Amino acid sequence: MTQYVYMFSDGDKDQKDLLGGKGANLAEMVKLGLPVPPGFTISTDACRAYLSEGKVPPEVRVEVTRRLREVEDHIDRTLGDSEEPLLLSVRSGAKFSMPGMMETVLNVGLNDDTVHALADFAGDERFAWDSYRRLIQMFGKTVLDIDSELFSEALDARKSEAGVTSDVELDVEQLRTLVKEYKAIVEDATGKPFPQTPRKQLDMAIEAVFRSWNTERAMLYRRRERIPDDLGTAVNVQAMVFGNLGETSGTGVCFTRDPSSGHSGVYGDYLPNAQGEDVVAGIRNTLALSDLKERDRDAYRELRSAMRRLETHYRDLCDIEFTIERGKLWMLQTRVGKRTAAAAFRVATQLVDEQLITMDEALERVTGEQLTNLLFPQFDKDAVRQLLATGMGASPGAAVGAVAFDNASATAKAAEGVDVVLVRRETSPEDLPGMIAAQGVLTARGGKTSHAAVVARGMGMCAVVGAEDLQIDVAKKTITVGETVVSEGDVISIDGKTGQIYLGAVDVIDSPVMTYIADGLEAAQAKAEDDDTRELVAAVDRLLQHADARRRLRVRTNADTGEDAQRARDRGAEGIGLCRTEHQFLGERREYIERVILAEDDEARASVMAELLPLQRADFVELLTVMDGLPATIRLIDPPLHEFLPDLTELTVKVELAKARGEEGPELERDKVLLEAVRATHEQNPMLGLRGVRLGLKYPGLFALQIRAIAEAVVELRGQGKDPQPEIMVPLIGSRRELHLVREQGLEILQEVGEAAGMTLDLPIGCMIELPRAALTAERIAHEADFFSFGTNDLTQTTWGFSRDDVETEFFTTYMENGVLAVSPFETLDGIGVGELVRQGVAGGRKTKPSLKTGVCGEHGGDPESIHFFHEVGLDYVSCSPFRVPVARLEAGRAAA
Ligand code: PEP
Ligand code: MG
Repeated sequence: MTQYVYMFSDGDKDQKDLLGGKGANLAEMVKLGLPVPPGFTISTDACRAYLSEGKVPPEVRVEVTRRLREVEDHIDRTLGDSEEPLLLSVRSGAKFSMPGMMETVLNVGLNDDTVHALADFAGDERFAWDSYRRLIQMFGKTVLDIDSELFSEALDARKSEAGVTSDVELDVEQLRTLVKEYKAIVEDATGKPFPQTPRKQLDMAIEAVFRSWNTERAMLYRRRERIPDDLGTAVNVQAMVFGNLGETSGTGVCFTRDPSSGHSGVYGDYLPNAQGEDVVAGIRNTLALSDLKERDRDAYRELRSAMRRLETHYRDLCDIEFTIERGKLWMLQTRVGKRTAAAAFRVATQLVDEQLITMDEALERVTGEQLTNLLFPQFDKDAVRQLLATGMGASPGAAVGAVAFDNASATAKAAEGVDVVLVRRETSPEDLPGMIAAQGVLTARGGKTSHAAVVARGMGMCAVVGAEDLQIDVAKKTITVGETVVSEGDVISIDGKTGQIYLGAVDVIDSPVMTYIADGLEAAQAKAEDDDTRELVAAVDRLLQHADARRRLRVRTNADTGEDAQRARDRGAEGIGLCRTEHQFLGERREYIERVILAEDDEARASVMAELLPLQRADFVELLTVMDGLPATIRLIDPPLHEFLPDLTELTVKVELAKARGEEGPELERDKVLLEAVRATHEQNPMLGLRGVRLGLKYPGLFALQIRAIAEAVVELRGQGKDPQPEIMVPLIGSRRELHLVREQGLEILQEVGEAAGMTLDLPIGCMIELPRAALTAERIAHEADFFSFGTNDLTQTTWGFSRDDVETEFFTTYMENGVLAVSPFETLDGIGVGELVRQGVAGGRKTKPSLKTGVCGEHGGDPESIHFFHEVGLDYVSCSPFRVPVARLEAGRAAA
């Protein structure tokens, strides 16, 4: 038979699944011999049984009776006793803390009779009646679901009648009347009197806690925090102790070390003559713990020793709630304390230095997300600000600048030294110059993998996308949100983490950890303003170095320019995992691709290629120079064609207008030819159309040109005594034959260039696995491939059938709200779906070639949770944007530790 109810003394801290976090930690404190008011935990099993059957299993009630008697014996008070009544607190406690989400009922056991006994015991009638009215109020609201306004109104009416402004000024008589009124409210609302039987109160309160697992706000919270819905909560039933029995009583919260700096010492607040909520509610000014030392040396010393024991035991920073009842210390709660990202790093290394944990354990105490937080410039949290609208935070950071609506004005302003924020309805590759010039980018449309977002993340620049409340009028150069109009040149501030958009300039502060990453430890130490900061960068340095020593996954970067590559290398990248060569054709060079597509015959096409060859060779020379000695995966061109051609509708209108106006001349003729070609190549779904290897096979000269440029770059660099290590990657492969054709062509060119130079050019030729078919037929494809790189952006798009450019604004919100998705699969790899294809792809590839090198270059390569997955499926490396390289190093280390 399942046991549903456990005495605190039965459990321990490792039973969070069964007892919830609070219950498990209470049990641990009992085990440690700390003074915990006696009680028991009703398990999450009971909650799950309640949730599936719709009622509390009868066994639970029976077990509660037995455990309750144990508590009564232990404390020598009885529930409902008219002389020495036991009062109980009933609190929720799930495996993961869900602060404020679920219910608590205090003072259970008070009724018309026991209230007198409490008054005698406390020697304070006012206290007893106040406790009673609090019970009815809390019970009414949380257990009986009565509108809490009714109680507040009655309380206010009582206060105004008494001519007082605060609750504490009400006297016994007024409180007695209030209890009567509260009881009437209960009877009115439920048709039944307030339950007078203490046991009935207890049973109802327990059921209410179970029920509160599925309130709307609790469900919403779980979705946001990615807590599974089927865990259920435990219920902790515990003897009440009172911190409000006069000046020798009190209540407090403390930390075993400073949760924001991490320094060891005694940190906390104490409030004499008060109950738990009073400390949190901030009604009265709390005292520092050192004042407790003056007031009650014994209780203070006992608390200090409990804190030390807890920290030694948990080997981590703990937070603690305690109450002192007439000089007697009681521990009400402890847990491993929440802390800031900076404190997490400091505490972890401090505990290593104190020899409480090992470096491996220290790695487990920090996360990539915390490191990310430490890297971004941030808005000064104390700065004044005025919110304009909220979009999606797509690339973190804080940007302040004058609004610019196009490339020309963005670059012009930037050239004048003015910071700008580029604002677009959506961005396209053509906006790149504007983005480079800007501090941040803001769009009204598009999701987290839209062009703006991907490019911005790649550049480590702040981006807010999909701010649908913005009405952007490009012609008038205004943004309108409701009544507010922002014009070109007006300053706005955007927060790439929260997606918030502010009017005016909000103060930004630099991150010292970023200085460390970019310029090294010494520079960061020298620049640091205080010891805390110096300690922080040293802690980050130690943990990153340890992660590097531990990790199996190599960390490469996605970089298209020498500058990006250099930045990534400085941050510890061990090669390039993806160079998107189509990005090298943006801007001025776009017209070359246009000419390739428009070329009348092969000869014309070949002549464009001949012009392109030296340009591409120079690109690769630059990249390979920066990455000298390290592998650099260069992906052959993979643009959806429409990105290089004018928009069909716009061009049609332009041509028709010109014709209507009777215009003539070479420009119109050229536009007509262009329109013809745009029409001929127009696709409804360009992302599923003529791109990647398909483009390469249709216009074989393109790939040939690139492969030749790579080969010639190698020859040139070897000539300079360098060690270039390019790897040629073919995108969007779906079949073995596709890769075979490109490979044959490639090998021929490599041989030809090699022979001419008198050297062997055996560069690896591999492919991206970014279509389900490729993953499923990986075993076959591997015959033609020297390596695989998983393109999880397209693989997610094609596995789910979600368009990566549109989906996140369209219906992801609905999908998040109704729980279909907990997180965007474009952000964190969908392990059981898309991830399964990655797993099969790796297994298939290695069946054919056991030592086949595999990596990932989709956005997921920089996502902490996904990195753990890639470690587990046995990839050799992840590749991510330069900015995320340190995060990936840390997470890869954590995955291996
Ligand atoms: C991918 O699809 O995951 C990938 C890296 O390629 P791109 O994002 O350039 O399509
Ligand atoms: Mg792709």
